[in-house]
Amino acid sequence: MVSRVIPVDPFDLIIFGGTGDLAQRKIMPALFRRFCAGQWPADAQVIGAARGDLDRAGFQAVVAESLRSYASDLARNGDALNAFLQRVGFVRLDALSDAGWDQLAGLLDNARVRAFYFSVGPGLFAPLATKIQAHNLATDKTRIVVEKPFGHDLESSRALNATLAAHFRESQIYRIDHYLGKETVQNLMAVRFGNMLFEPLWNSQYVDHIQITVAETVGIDGREDYYDRAGAMRDMMQNHLMQLLCLIAMEPPAKFDPDAVRDEKLKVIRALDPVEPHHIVRGQFGAGADGPGYRDVVGNPRSATESYVALRAHVSNWRWAGTPFYLRTGKRLVARSSVINVLFKDAPHSIFGAAAGRHANALSIRLQPNEGITLKVTIKEPGPGGMRLVDVPLDMSFAEALGPDSDTPPDAYERLVMDVIRGNQTLFMRGDEVEAAWAWVDPIIAGWQARGDVPKPYDSGSTGPGDAELLMKRDGRHWQGIKP
Ligand code: NAD
Repeated sequence: MVSRVIPVDPFDLIIFGGTGDLAQRKIMPALFRRFCAGQWPADAQVIGAARGDLDRAGFQAVVAESLRSYASDLARNGDALNAFLQRVGFVRLDALSDAGWDQLAGLLDNARVRAFYFSVGPGLFAPLATKIQAHNLATDKTRIVVEKPFGHDLESSRALNATLAAHFRESQIYRIDHYLGKETVQNLMAVRFGNMLFEPLWNSQYVDHIQITVAETVGIDGREDYYDRAGAMRDMMQNHLMQLLCLIAMEPPAKFDPDAVRDEKLKVIRALDPVEPHHIVRGQFGAGADGPGYRDVVGNPRSATESYVALRAHVSNWRWAGTPFYLRTGKRLVARSSVINVLFKDAPHSIFGAAAGRHANALSIRLQPNEGITLKVTIKEPGPGGMRLVDVPLDMSFAEALGPDSDTPPDAYERLVMDVIRGNQTLFMRGDEVEAAWAWVDPIIAGWQARGDVPKPYDSGSTGPGDAELLMKRDGRHWQGIKP
């Protein structure tokens, strides 16, 4: 597959927190890949802005090192690496003081798209927005990119939205959820709305239930303080899983345009019923071969923060009445796997008799690893011996369907950063969406606190707490395997 590269307008991209983990591990490699793909115009630069004791050459050395680690295939080409580094600038600047801002202003060109990427801790989002305005750095072509977490609850997310809105129009604010930048997530929309085949069946009449799993093998190393205050509900469910739920459940937007898509997503969130306490399972990992248990990791022997959550949600609207959505996410699980499974109902009557067994179609949308989509269909088992049925996968793996390059689709950050420059907000969360998601999540967390709920322990390297299996079993269902 030959990937098409559409050049973007000249730009200045300023990364606050340019020396940090996210900037070095994800954003810079993504920019470098787009640079090597030929997507950068001649007048474009990226400027790191951070507090560190560095100058431009020192920062370029840091970036070069990161690219050798995280984009090693391309960084081997010394000419490409050097050409990219020529486009990398640095300003020493503190988000909380006025020093450094004039120097930054001197590097920018008013005629270019100007994107400020807030790759700093969330406590600095509001101060940065204020400083950008105070130093007159916002032009008509200015955009800001805000990382997660966007608030800690409804109240703080509203306050943050209000501060950003005081300085920028909503059309200038890009709230990142990198799950939305994944190739398969967009493919989900292509499959749903580009085919006649699926959409007529995409409702409670034909869909038995939907499962969304984001399982991680990693723990919380390096972010213990933040995580122990957040937990899986705030860190993963409120954003990534709810965004996936929206894309699966939403009505067809009239157009694939930012507000049309986001209006439909918002309607899904607003249609969510409150979750019954017995429809949620919280878990906390114990010690295992891969490390100490959660409470030892965070150094709090009484921590009641969940590293796992599973729940049953209902979208109360005409399309989905009666179809449960089961969502689960957790740390230190048996495998790393993000997948959406749409489980269709059994055929209403089996002409093959009981011996043929029960079979139902299922559509699996894999976000990672091995991005792709599989449709499970029932066919006759080959050979003589009567009519035996067997389920086989109809695999729409990108590698097979689209050619050898397609199994390495661009990283989510490559697409998202370029969308910022292009001014396309479709894959970014709007302020009202984020608030609506918190409005759904807050009462759940408040309920745990009021009841003094303690998460169930689960073994590190397992599929999560046993109660999560019961959540399904009670409904006569079972989770699809986590291992891809
Ligand atoms: P980090 O601690 O590695 O980096 C923080 C950066 O902010 C550093 O460059 C530091 O110099 C800079 N900084 C700190 N205080 C500053 C100040 N007062 N003025 C100017 N610069 C200052 O953090 P990170 O892991 O890169 O995360 C950055 C943001 O991205 C956070 O909001 C985080 O929640 C979010 N995020 C990170 C990841 C990830 O994988 N690291 C993933 C998703 C979201």
